[in-house]
Amino acid sequence: MTMRVLVTGAAGFLGSHLTDRLLSEGHSVVGVDNLSTGDAENIAHLANQERFSFEQRDICKPFDPGPVDYVFNMASPASPPEYLRLGIETLRVGSIGTENTLQIAARHGAGFLHASTSECYGDALEHPQTENYWGNVNPVGPRSVYDEAKRFSEAMVMAYHRSRGVNTHLVRIFNTYGPRLHPSDGRVISNFMMQALRGQPLTIYGEGSQTRSFCYVDDLIEGILRLSRSSEPMPVNIGNPDEFTILECAQAVLEVTGSKSALTFESLPQDDPARRCPDISKARALLGWEPRITLKEGLRKSLDFFKSKAAVHA
Ligand code: UDP
Repeated sequence: MTMRVLVTGAAGFLGSHLTDRLLSEGHSVVGVDNLSTGDAENIAHLANQERFSFEQRDICKPFDPGPVDYVFNMASPASPPEYLRLGIETLRVGSIGTENTLQIAARHGAGFLHASTSECYGDALEHPQTENYWGNVNPVGPRSVYDEAKRFSEAMVMAYHRSRGVNTHLVRIFNTYGPRLHPSDGRVISNFMMQALRGQPLTIYGEGSQTRSFCYVDDLIEGILRLSRSSEPMPVNIGNPDEFTILECAQAVLEVTGSKSALTFESLPQDDPARRCPDISKARALLGWEPRITLKEGLRKSLDFFKSKAAVHA
């Protein structure tokens, strides 16, 4: 059955890939985005797609897209430099914006999936992180604008599930990368790829011993779609459990790009989590999902995108 789907944050990195995938399955997509961190270029290729419409709007103001069967709430600044710059906007979209989109789902009897985050675990004291871990978040630190907004969103989604009977889903997304990851949004993969391709030193924050686990975007979208079709309302981790130190990540980028860039060491941002790795047992058991693409394969698949950006912004 094909659906009419609302995707918020449709011009963002994940929102645009999700939109492409939904369209390829025959669904119609209403995309909204206020373009505060999203990029119209990410959906430019859909200009002549009849089943896609786009509205530039802020979801913090109530709106009604008309009857929809499903709502994917992907809207939020997501990279640390961007949500630090847009702190109040990040808190608003993760509270008022989330409730506005839940009301749309409740009104139209639509399914609802909210893009949550591994940041709910904060600087985790349990490793790897299972969905049952409640997290170690600094409520007043610089990252709190993002972490607490996402934690509030999860509470709001559960309240609409429990009190209004909305068919909701919560995906806790771990670090994800691929084409359309904004080349200048400050994330580690985009920074390293752009620096490597320009022959600039790769900026390692701290000693580079902190870990992350990187999921290629196609794997992530597959996991999100499977969760959206499940009957699971509680949070599910979707990410790649292969854990790398930031130094290993830099090494992989140098290898894939063939770059001779040096490494340079800079100070570690405040509250930067030391280790992050998803336990994906729940996704494996519930959704039969696991990532397929290794870090080096994913970096190779992303190479053309970053090359084109490095050429434009050289
Ligand atoms: N990082 C780094 N160099 C960079 C950008 C990021 O060493 O140029 C580190 C950062 O300190 C963090 C990790 O890479 O430990 C991942 O950072 P990112 O901003 O991509 O996402 P986060 O997981 O912190 O949300």
